[in-house]
Amino acid sequence: MARIEVPTETLLVEMGDEGLNILETNMQMSDMDENAPVVCDICSKPLGKMKDVKHIESPETITIAVRNGFKPEQMLKATKDMLKEEGEKIPDDFMEIVFESWKSIVDKSETPWALCEDCHKSIQIYIKKRSANV
Ligand SMILES: [Zn+2]
Repeated sequence: MARIEVPTETLLVEMGDEGLNILETNMQMSDMDENAPVVCDICSKPLGKMKDVKHIESPETITIAVRNGFKPEQMLKATKDMLKEEGEKIPDDFMEIVFESWKSIVDKSETPWALCEDCHKSIQIYIKKRSANV
């Protein structure tokens, strides 16, 4: 059994005979106190205080970017590294499951997302992609 910390959600998973089972997901409430330290909602990079955050995107914007093919590479890499450090074996479809569950978080999300410079830039590319195609 492994506990996976995804920035906005904790997953409890288990390796069963038929692959991975997600046993439990816990959504975490983000603290919106303006003096509370804020981390990037995609890669968990510290952003300083709430009032210092430069890039805030609506959940709709994130959804559009994801539909256009945005993948939270930073978050996936961090999750993978964390599991490696814990000595977990990582099956090929594992990161796919993490990504799928992350996408469902995006779908359910109703609060604005705080983004770091890098994630904001990569999101913008995918949003523009759509306008270019229309
Ligand atoms: Zn980020």
